[in-house]
Amino acid sequence: MKVTDHIIKAKGETLFSFEIIPPVKGRNINELYNNIDPLMEFKPPFIDVTTSREEYVYIDRNGLLDKKLTRMRPGTVGICASIKHKYDVDTIPHVLCGGFTKEETEYLLVDCHYLGIDNIMALRGDAMKEEKYFEPSKGGHIYASDLVKQIHHLNTGQYLHEVIETDNCADFCIGVAGYPEKHMEAPSLKTDLKWLKKKVDEGAHYVVTQMFFDNNKYFEFVEAARAMDINVPIIPGIKPIAVKRHLHLLPQVFRIDLPQDLIDSVDSCKSNKEVRQVGIEWAIEQSKELKEAGVPVLHYYSMGKSDNIKAIAEAVF
Ligand SMILES: Cc1cc2nc3c(=O)[nH]c(=O)nc-3n(C[C@H](O)[C@H](O)[C@H](O)COP(=O)(O)OP(=O)(O)OC[C@H]3O[C@@H](n4cnc5c(N)ncnc54)[C@H](O)[C@@H]3O)c2cc1C
Repeated sequence: MKVTDHIIKAKGETLFSFEIIPPVKGRNINELYNNIDPLMEFKPPFIDVTTSREEYVYIDRNGLLDKKLTRMRPGTVGICASIKHKYDVDTIPHVLCGGFTKEETEYLLVDCHYLGIDNIMALRGDAMKEEKYFEPSKGGHIYASDLVKQIHHLNTGQYLHEVIETDNCADFCIGVAGYPEKHMEAPSLKTDLKWLKKKVDEGAHYVVTQMFFDNNKYFEFVEAARAMDINVPIIPGIKPIAVKRHLHLLPQVFRIDLPQDLIDSVDSCKSNKEVRQVGIEWAIEQSKELKEAGVPVLHYYSMGKSDNIKAIAEAVF
């Protein structure tokens, strides 16, 4: 079922959902299930599965280093299929521009259609670790809006190189990313919103936001988006702080601000166990206020660990 239909069906009740990352190559998928199991009692209508960018690894061959491009956490679509099958829940693969040609994207979308996947999260992807700026793949898309357009075309039977008359068209519901504190490369929030609007105009059906720790950032973002005629659901993304290092890492990686009260509370913790508790309590307060404001879904970034998300969900849902 489509995310937008889940929202309609909920009739104003806030839904619970979360995002997981595929395990590192070679790890057991049961580790993933062990983290999903405790969250299923909160009845997520859908679970997102991220896609990682490829990266360079150096393999020692008798003293000579061989540089190889590889994806450390492959398996997004396979994991979507296995979770969908195991838990009878909708799963949403994150599909990236970076690292894929348009043809590869088409084949991936065809796989998703055959697997009965109804939603796709369309993203550009970050720059690779070695790159200063995002470099599109040869024959790949530059912006997420181009990917949205490709998915929208597929929904109407327009494949890359042929138009196919069929009564079995894909009908993907398309999600895209939004940034309450603007995307790091955008010169201003207004310009970033202009490009968000392009994604919606090309066919995106809903937006999921980057994490934020001050709800006012989200409320102002939604207001600014509505003023620009972006009228699709805007789902807030929530990440609980889990370790002290996040105080520096999150602003550095995601270019977001942290409220001073949160910084002070984390700073005063004597162990990461205490930090984890502060993160849970902050996320509970954020979630309660957002729920009260009537957000359609609260979407949690689990980063592969579910104990803190479970504690938050217990307090909020
Ligand atoms: C909810 C969510 C989930 C995510 N999941 C993943 C994941 O699974 N894997 C992963 O690698 N990354 C993921 N990301 C990170 C995302 O890939 C990065 O933030 C990336 O840098 C931008 O992706 P985007 O889809 O927002 O790009 P875009 O919408 O293409 O925007 C990228 C930048 O270009 C600008 N821009 C857009 N269109 C144009 C245009 N036509 N002309 C000029 N400028 C333009 C925008 O303002 C922005 O600064 C996720 C982010 C979010 C918020």
